[in-house]
Parts: sequence; structure tokens; C-alpha cells
Amino acid sequence: MKESGRKQGAASPCAACKLLRRRCAQDCVFAPYFPADEPHKFASVHKVFGASNVNKMLQELPEHQRGDAVSSMVYEANARVRDPVYGCVGAISSLQQQIDHLQSQLAIAQAEVVHMRMRQFSSISGGGTAGNSPENVSPSSRHTQTQPTMSLFTMDMVVDQANIGESLWSC
Ligand SMILES: [Zn+2]
Repeated sequence: MKESGRKQGAASPCAACKLLRRRCAQDCVFAPYFPADEPHKFASVHKVFGASNVNKMLQELPEHQRGDAVSSMVYEANARVRDPVYGCVGAISSLQQQIDHLQSQLAIAQAEVVHMRMRQFSSISGGGTAGNSPENVSPSSRHTQTQPTMSLFTMDMVVDQANIGESLWSC
């Protein structure tokens, strides 16, 4: 893999050395990660972090982690070039907002399910106060009875969550 960047000819430097206009040594730290055919990767990383910082960061890492480090630096650098103010934090916070929004929608849907179960239950038990004593219900319907009663409590919490989610979403 390391050799692939060099196979085009020993004279062709890696993308980093080409941009920095220096000789690409045999042990060039950039060469395995910045092949000559992908010049944009190093260009944005160099623009945002600076070549010597990238060099330092790579030197400090064991070789098996350098590929991942380069990927994340390239990602961060590209995000920073696209969005000079927020960089990849912009992407993170917009995804976070989507999560909040979807969580509040989920909470509302869950509350609706609980509400519908309650209505279903009250229509089964006649809607009156007759169904309130657990002694005179069969074991199977007792099971369905405990479900909504338990969820009544969680429904309040769910609705609270939904309200919090909603207010977060609206600001
Ligand atoms: Zn090089």
C-alpha cells in the first residue's frame, strides 16, 4: 500500500511534498496517506491545520492509527473550509437538532399510543367505575389492565419530554 503511491515512478512525490515543493523522501510520513492522485486531501488539511502540525500529529501516533487520523483530519478540514465558522460542529449540531426533533416526535407518538390504549381499555371495561377493582377481572384482562395504568405514569413523563423537545426545536 505504501509502495502504491510511488509506483508511478520514484520521481513523483506524494501530494504533500508536491504542494510543499520538497523532495519526497523514501520514509516520507505523508506519502502513505496523501497519494499524488488526491491533491485536494492534503491541500485542505494543510490550509486548516498546517503541514507541520499534521506532520507532528502523525509522528505522535502509532502507524496503525495514522490512516484513521488522516481521515478525520481531512473530514474536519473539509468541513472547516465549507463552513469557516462552525466547521464540523455545524454538522454535529444540525444532526443533534434532528435527533431532538425526532425524539420529540417519537415521544408524541408514544403518548398517542398510550392515549389510544387507555381509550380502548375504558371502552372494554365499560367506561364506568366498574373496572376499577382488579379482583373481578379475569387474569388475561388483568394483564391488559396493568399495562395502561403503568403507562399512565410514563405518559406524563413522555409528554414532558415532548414539550422539552418542542421548545428546544423551536429556539
Ligand atoms: Zn512525500
